[in-house]
Amino acid sequence: MALNLDRPDLLRTDNFIGGQWRHGIDGADYPVCDPATGEAIAMVADSTAADAEAATSAAHQAFASWRQQPAAARAQILKRWHALIQAHVEDLARLISREQGKPLAEARGEVAYGASYVDWFAAEAVRSYGDIIPAAVRSKKMLVTKEPVGVVAAITPWNFPLAMIARKIAPALAAGCTVVAKPAEDTPLTALALVALAEEAGLPAGVLNIVTSSRERVSEVVGAWLKDSRVRKITFTGSTAVGKLLARESAPTLKRLSLELGGNAPFIVFEDADLDAAVEGLMAAKFRNGGQTCVSPNRIYVHDAVYDAFADKLVTRVQSLRVGPGDRDDSQIGPMINARAVDKIERHVQDALARGATLLTGGRRLNEGAANGPNYYAPTVLGDASHEMELAQDETFGPVVPLFRFQNETEVVDAANDTPYGLAAYFFSRDVARIWRLAEQLQTGIVGINEGALAAEAAPFGGIKESGYGREGSRYGLDDYMATKYLCQGNL
Ligand code: NAD
Repeated sequence: MALNLDRPDLLRTDNFIGGQWRHGIDGADYPVCDPATGEAIAMVADSTAADAEAATSAAHQAFASWRQQPAAARAQILKRWHALIQAHVEDLARLISREQGKPLAEARGEVAYGASYVDWFAAEAVRSYGDIIPAAVRSKKMLVTKEPVGVVAAITPWNFPLAMIARKIAPALAAGCTVVAKPAEDTPLTALALVALAEEAGLPAGVLNIVTSSRERVSEVVGAWLKDSRVRKITFTGSTAVGKLLARESAPTLKRLSLELGGNAPFIVFEDADLDAAVEGLMAAKFRNGGQTCVSPNRIYVHDAVYDAFADKLVTRVQSLRVGPGDRDDSQIGPMINARAVDKIERHVQDALARGATLLTGGRRLNEGAANGPNYYAPTVLGDASHEMELAQDETFGPVVPLFRFQNETEVVDAANDTPYGLAAYFFSRDVARIWRLAEQLQTGIVGINEGALAAEAAPFGGIKESGYGREGSRYGLDDYMATKYLCQGNL
């Protein structure tokens, strides 16, 4: 099926380097496929190290003048970009939904969410204040200024094709950095459209560059940036395995790193929780994007006293979810991104059932019927989950809710923290003393307290432990793209 856009020119398939749209130097391309059908939507440039180096040269050259622009001038361009994103919500949402699979309504929400970072950092750009420090002696003045770190390489995942790249590019540009970006191989079209709108907003040539590549060539493209001492920072969202690889391979040139990596979020329902609110919180946190989010609750701990009541209410809600292609009005869960993703979900569910979990609903692929393609999985609830199951150790990244029973607070906090990851945690309780205790004891960068929807441009988003470091959004998000400089002046 053709992709209908009000602005067909937003469907871009070339790289954008130094203000020019150009195909990869060796002319190769690869297909971007619709996860609902497996059909190719477009062929995009399959770039090489030479393309990545050309992007770095353009960004390096543009940095000298971009950093000199008054922050207010950079902010003006970001504001125009924000207005253009908002003016083209429908086209951007169609691109997201088509290449990533999420329902159109959710895709529109992602556009608004991604745009909110552009708006936020346009406003933050003019607030990158420094400090004056009282010196110990009269003959000295001590000042602190902030400077852009330089050329930034942004590497993003497929699950939020617009929001993940917007929340890296916007603070980088606001800080005065220039950018080379590589979107996920499965979802480059939204990122390319976003860059086309940035060009239209008046961004000078070379300030923002983007190259696309297939999975086969990604090491070559990103490798060119890792080796290059002109690239001063890597900002990455994706899996912990690739995050560690980037940390290792950027060590020889000691680049700054922001790593937003995988999670294994616990979601705890205490005996004093409002159960209806807890079910709704879980539905919002778990089933957004079909469970393909890094903050998706992966281990749901329910107190023994309310376990059965909670499970009953949850199963009723989960059975009401409608699965289907992203462009069908009533779809709430779209296809998973690709066959590998569905294989992993199936493996986790089979492993859990073999180790004693009970199937409360779902637990199967949905591959029959004209509306359903190969990448659909039924929303699933499993009871009696335990820690040796694969799904307790590793993020499932799909619409699967495993319920674990617990008896007391100490036991559940230990279990919740018993993971190398530390991105998000959630709990539902009405006991104020417990709320403050848990907020402190949970080892994550983000804690949802009686709340399932956490992300906001005004808040610092990021993890601890093997979920990475660095923060996106909020005033901390701008700091991640700035170097602190200390000026010490003696007597003239
Ligand atoms: P991924 O790590 O496979 O890919 C992410 C990006 O890295 C893609 O652009 C990919 O092309 C690139 N990449 C892959 N192999 C590479 C290599 N060898 N060298 C350099 N770059 C390489 O992750 P994914 O499957 O696209 O995304 C899902 C993961 O992202 C999950 O683990 C999820 O939890 C995580 N995630 C984290 C956050 C967060 O904010 N913490 C947000 C969204 C997703």
